[in-house]
Amino acid sequence: MSKRDYYEVLGVSKNASKDEIKKAYRKLSKQYHPDINKEPDAAEKFKEITEANEVLSDDQKRAHYDQFGHTDPNQGFGGQDFGGFGGFEDIFSTFFGGGRRRDPNAPRQGADLQYTMTISFEEAAFGKQTEIEIPREENCGTCDGTGAKPGTKVNTCSHCHGTGQISVEQNTPLGRIVNRRPCHHCQGTGKIIPDKCSTCGGTGKVKKRKKIQIKVPAGIDDGQQLRVTGNGEPGINGGPPGDLYVVFHVRDHEFFERDGDDIYCEMPITFAQAALGDEIEVPTLHGKVKLKIPAGTQTGTRFRLKGKGVPNVRGYGQGDQHVVILIITPKKLTDKQKQLLREFAEISGQNELDENEEGFFSKVKRAFKGD
Ligand SMILES: [Zn+2]
Ligand SMILES: [Zn+2]
Repeated sequence: MSKRDYYEVLGVSKNASKDEIKKAYRKLSKQYHPDINKEPDAAEKFKEITEANEVLSDDQKRAHYDQFGHTDPNQGFGGQDFGGFGGFEDIFSTFFGGGRRRDPNAPRQGADLQYTMTISFEEAAFGKQTEIEIPREENCGTCDGTGAKPGTKVNTCSHCHGTGQISVEQNTPLGRIVNRRPCHHCQGTGKIIPDKCSTCGGTGKVKKRKKIQIKVPAGIDDGQQLRVTGNGEPGINGGPPGDLYVVFHVRDHEFFERDGDDIYCEMPITFAQAALGDEIEVPTLHGKVKLKIPAGTQTGTRFRLKGKGVPNVRGYGQGDQHVVILIITPKKLTDKQKQLLREFAEISGQNELDENEEGFFSKVKRAFKGD
């Protein structure tokens, strides 16, 4: 099967921003999550959406994809798993191992569960160990999940002969149509339980809250998810349990902004500091850092604090912090300050402009003439 274009999968344009991609992914992954969406192709769609997001939300992979298109997902990106976080595996490795719903008596994998965890900006950067409690179904201990009262039997449904499905043939003007629908005598299970277990009412399942230890890996980003293998709902007919997906929602920070492993912040300085140069202190996630502002710094100038970003979630190094300088024009001036600035302006008028300024000002002049 040929793969659909990742941009098309997420319904975004080729030059969509990271934010647009993130939003599109969130919306679609909710819509097609197999726990929520029971349509037969939801699982496939969800997998496709997740894969598209994995690539398009990562600058490097996106650039690679833009250049080369689809490549083998197991090649070229240095593996897909969160190596070194025991118990966690990436979403790709054995997605939806469960069988298709054909034989109701065949062992089937339990349903996957999704849990959204909201964490702070710092927790996402440094990771944390935490415990969550999830409500989930477990096999009933009284009947061992069979649904039958202990000591009694489970019978095969005679209406559907244990298949759980009934074929209905219909003659229509377009020809004969065979509809397969779930058997209503056994609710599609293929089994009849004459004596139901009183603990679970014959369902074989009980709702329990389970505590699970979660190690949030350092560097996790908003919208990323971890699979906790085997912590979904129990398997059916002896099948393996489903998996738990923990989706992270990272709260915004009032000062820092994050893009991948890099952090951005804006630092206000005064005109005097910018003109004369200064040394300022910049907050980082790793504590205060001194930053030298050279004389003549312009607004919008960007400085890089190497290694002061977020560790890469897959263990590939550490991001940087980018400091964008904003020169603040004072709004309230005392008479003395106004006087000094007027004097400054007067003297500046007589000064020779430096080469860059000269070139810039003459461009402005020329633009006026063209009017
Ligand atoms: Zn029971
Ligand atoms: Zn039946």
